Amino acid sequence: MRIAVIGAGIAGLTVAGLLHQRGYSVTVFEQAKSFWRIGSGIILGASTAKVLRRLGVEDAMVQAGIKPDAFVSRDVASGEVMNELVFDDEAEARFGGPFVNIHRADLHKILLSSLGSNAVRFDHQLAGLNHSGDGVRLDFADGSGFDADIAIGADGIRSVVRDIVQGASPPRYVGKLALRSVFASHKIAGVAMRDCTKWWGEDRHLLAYYMSERRDECYIMAAVPSDAWSEDTPPRDGTRDDFISAFPDAHPDLMGLMTAAEKVQLLPICDRVRNDKWSDGRIVLAGDACHAVRPFMAAGGSMAIEDGAILARAIEVASSPEQAFALYEATRIDRVGDVQRISAENSWLKTPHATDWFFGYDPYAHDLAKAA
Ligand SMILES: Cc1cc2nc3c(=O)[nH]c(=O)nc-3n(C[C@H](O)[C@H](O)[C@H](O)COP(=O)(O)OP(=O)(O)OC[C@H]3O[C@@H](n4cnc5c(N)ncnc54)[C@H](O)[C@@H]3O)c2cc1C
Repeated sequence: MRIAVIGAGIAGLTVAGLLHQRGYSVTVFEQAKSFWRIGSGIILGASTAKVLRRLGVEDAMVQAGIKPDAFVSRDVASGEVMNELVFDDEAEARFGGPFVNIHRADLHKILLSSLGSNAVRFDHQLAGLNHSGDGVRLDFADGSGFDADIAIGADGIRSVVRDIVQGASPPRYVGKLALRSVFASHKIAGVAMRDCTKWWGEDRHLLAYYMSERRDECYIMAAVPSDAWSEDTPPRDGTRDDFISAFPDAHPDLMGLMTAAEKVQLLPICDRVRNDKWSDGRIVLAGDACHAVRPFMAAGGSMAIEDGAILARAIEVASSPEQAFALYEATRIDRVGDVQRISAENSWLKTPHATDWFFGYDPYAHDLAKAA
């Protein structure tokens, strides 16, 4: 079976790597000319470690990233600790894997290593996708084409494949702006920074964490209300004053972090209205192309990786693409729906609550056939 994956992001590389491992002929088409070091971090829950373990790259992920000692929630103004979810050996054993924060570029490199770079065709922007006979025909912006038996749309929040499966619609601006900055840790000498802290305000928050065990770089990302942006507003550079003016009453520890920010990027935060149509014939969606969530639960990447695991398993056990996609949807939609709801509420880990259902999830523990 020839499988075409559109998008070499987190979902695309995961599903492609797992299918490649099982002997399928997989080709990934990516619009970017090459990979570049995108300057931000990502938080990965323990479920993703179980998938990277199957790919043989869990250790590489842990070595490149950091296993934070805890996820700490603090009040923006008073600094009061509202919750502390400790990630010690006991928690890791309970969840079945570690919680890892990592630089996105390192994650991409690790996922790519399980696939082999020859399987990825860069500079291929999908322009059209049609059923043709018993397969699908992919057409690219440069005029080239490709025939496959299955097409997996893993092309992110502005997915072309999604438009084909669900009908064209723009992403939804959620009324909040993301402010992001990465800076050297020596800039915050004297400031108390834990491995991973979310600072909670009334209608805004700021997440701060290290991206590697070296703790030499800090990543901060805030979500702040703004009416002045839309889903089409392009990202732009900002300054530390954008951070500071958004949190004027910040506790001194938080103020110390924001003051250290040098290069700042502003971008609109978007999600997608839930739509449970995930496939059409031999075309299927995964990751943000399917269910882009607000980054308030830090779960979009984990969902993309879990999707990859379940989709690869379903393709392997099913007797037809349609059956495979039905198994995948039956297994994934409820869980993703919970994550979509909690991400929109922005309540995850603010105060102590049950987390085992999320971190303890094992994409390999379910009998897919029972989901049908
Ligand atoms: C500010 C912010 C912070 C976040 N923080 C976290 C976090 O801490 N933890 C977490 O789990 N998630 C986080 N997320 C969410 C996470 O980044 C996404 O859910 C995740 O990247 C989705 O992966 P994906 O592979 O579906 O899409 P993407 O990573 O967007 O990959 C899509 C790929 O498809 C390619 N592509 C697009 N169109 C085409 C085309 N027409 N032809 C060919 N290629 C195409 C793109 O170039 C890209 O490489 C955050 C998101 C944001 C915005």
